[in-house]
Amino acid sequence: MARKDLKPEATSEKVLECVQKHCPECGSRMWNEYNNLRHVRTLEGVVQLRLKIYRCQNMSCDRYRIAYRPEQEGSWILPHHEFGLDVIALVGALRYQDHRSVPQIHIHLKSKGVCISERSVTHLLARYDELLSLWLRDISRLKAVIKEQGRLILAIDGMQPTVGHEVLWVIRDCLSGEILLAKTLLSSKTEDLAALLLEVSNTLNVPIDGVVSDGQQSIRKAVEVALPGIAHGLCHFHYLKEASKIIYEADRHAKKQLKKHVRGIRKIENSISGDEKRVAAIVSKYCSAVRASLTSDGRPPLDASGLKLQERLTLIEQSLTKVEKKKLYQSH
Ligand SMILES: [Zn+2]
Repeated sequence: MARKDLKPEATSEKVLECVQKHCPECGSRMWNEYNNLRHVRTLEGVVQLRLKIYRCQNMSCDRYRIAYRPEQEGSWILPHHEFGLDVIALVGALRYQDHRSVPQIHIHLKSKGVCISERSVTHLLARYDELLSLWLRDISRLKAVIKEQGRLILAIDGMQPTVGHEVLWVIRDCLSGEILLAKTLLSSKTEDLAALLLEVSNTLNVPIDGVVSDGQQSIRKAVEVALPGIAHGLCHFHYLKEASKIIYEADRHAKKQLKKHVRGIRKIENSISGDEKRVAAIVSKYCSAVRASLTSDGRPPLDASGLKLQERLTLIEQSLTKVEKKKLYQSH
């Protein structure tokens, strides 16, 4: 039977980079050989993920041409799924904390704008149950996989569907892509998170090379407590997002100040009509250069529009200074 609902279009795109760009096995630089596109239905709309996949190019390495996927991918979505982990977390919370039935959860999700069928709600509830039970059920298989691999790079994320709901904590391994542990906690206190990390490291008993997270204060402390001395990388996306707030504000302020200096363009443009034709043409070209630099916007934080304006105005100023020098030279 044909699907009743067409797949919803993506409303935004996120590019996910790998934090780790060197091969975890041999240490040589990996290449971004191809990108994967995945559509994720989240509580905030449909997001298209552009995943930068890296592979080791060293032919003598055990991980030669084995894909290394962005660490953040697993915090969005489970393998072979189309609904985000936030939706799964909400389904679980509505079922077990609020004791709602599947049809009620379905209506709730629809009202939040999530395109989903009732059957999918049932599936997601099953995934939620599996996630929480996987630790106990699948431990021997997991142990075998991890032992063979000989090391772990952990990623830890907390999904809180809405305020007041329990947080679904998920710990993954970035090398194998396996979910190692999923638990719901009422709080996100350092000691509770440290206990989760310790549970993973004690049970699997292989060296942990590093941890990747969004750098939330309680996670940072938990890593320090549970895994002292182990490198803790912040996800670049979250890192940039935090840093960009300050940069963006400063840049916007700078742009405002700069704009004050180039007010009155219209006045100049109006005044040149009577002048000699050749001069008028040159002056009007300068005016449009200034105008163009005022309207071209950069994309913060990496391409700051204030800085761009400053660069362009400097170029115009340098050019004007040159003209002025030439004029002085000619008049002598
Ligand atoms: Zn390698």
